[in-house]
Amino acid sequence: MLDYNGSGMSVMEMSHRSATFKGIIETAEQDIRDLMSIPDNYRVLFLQGGATLQFAGIPMNLMRRGRAGYVVTGNFANKAYKEAAKYGEAVLLASSEDTNFDRIPTMADISARIAAEAAGDELDYVYICQNNTIFGTMFHELPECGDTPLFADVSSCFLSQPLDVERYGLIYAGAQKNAGAAGVTVVIVRDDLIADGPAFAQAPQYLDLKTQAAKESMLNTPNTFGIYVCGKVFHWVEETGGLAALAMEQRKWQRANMLYDTLDSSKLFKCHAEKGSRSGMNVTFRTGDAELDAAFVAGAAEHQIQNVKGHRLVGGMRASVYNAVTMEDVRALASYMKDFEAQHSLGPRSN
Ligand code: PMP
Repeated sequence: MLDYNGSGMSVMEMSHRSATFKGIIETAEQDIRDLMSIPDNYRVLFLQGGATLQFAGIPMNLMRRGRAGYVVTGNFANKAYKEAAKYGEAVLLASSEDTNFDRIPTMADISARIAAEAAGDELDYVYICQNNTIFGTMFHELPECGDTPLFADVSSCFLSQPLDVERYGLIYAGAQKNAGAAGVTVVIVRDDLIADGPAFAQAPQYLDLKTQAAKESMLNTPNTFGIYVCGKVFHWVEETGGLAALAMEQRKWQRANMLYDTLDSSKLFKCHAEKGSRSGMNVTFRTGDAELDAAFVAGAAEHQIQNVKGHRLVGGMRASVYNAVTMEDVRALASYMKDFEAQHSLGPRSN
């Protein structure tokens, strides 16, 4: 923290132009490339402004013909869709809003809609939010997009499973779930898509992906300490066994399935997400009685189980079991759920 590698300085104090910091950012980039098997024709950027800034940055850079397709499966997908509509025609390809985003629309329907739209008037890209943090759903497969590039917000499932990077034109994630501290957004983009510069000439220089790529994420002072922390996390993921079946992905489903099994055998709790759409990162559930839900959340805190109150758009509870959560943590929650149910076995259940 205070003396990085004998430099006598914290990463927080050193110049982002120094050879020492250059080593840190280059190592972080190489590690994420190795972890995710990112092909050479994709650029990796470490930007600021959160995933939210990219809701605007993506259309500003890449809505070249002024028409892009959005699949709205939750709050963040909806925000991206609304932001895109400021810059061109945002085509709503599918939505699960009618059932409060408890599922991912069927892939065959999404793919058919993409094909139909693209045949009429080409789409610049298809946009999805791969894991829906608030609602606890995720895409278990990707839509067929033909020649249209697929863009994905993977903020809340980043580094929790392997991704076939070549199936995407652009992938991005805020770091704060699985990759480090808030304040870094990792953008992985195919270089031909940004070669011509932003679609909107008036796009702020900071959001110009071509320039950011040319400047290797150092158009201005990057979040040096945040990038250093990301590098540490990439290294930890690698040491723990990487992303594939034996490591992050397997651990993810071990954690999530312990909670889903508890929910499926419960008479008190009900899962918000439909079975085929369940997220491995965010498990959303409720009793159906707001007072009982509040009692559950308050009791959890007494057991040192924090942050299980559901987002206000869903209510109930949410367990975010990101990579840093251990099986021991999840066991404690599952055990508390069972104890709570035993104590409230006559409690109401309205759905
Ligand atoms: N997308 C997803 C899937 C998210 O979970 C979040 C934040 N929770 C965002 C976008 C917004 O991210 P940020 O706060 O980094 O702008």
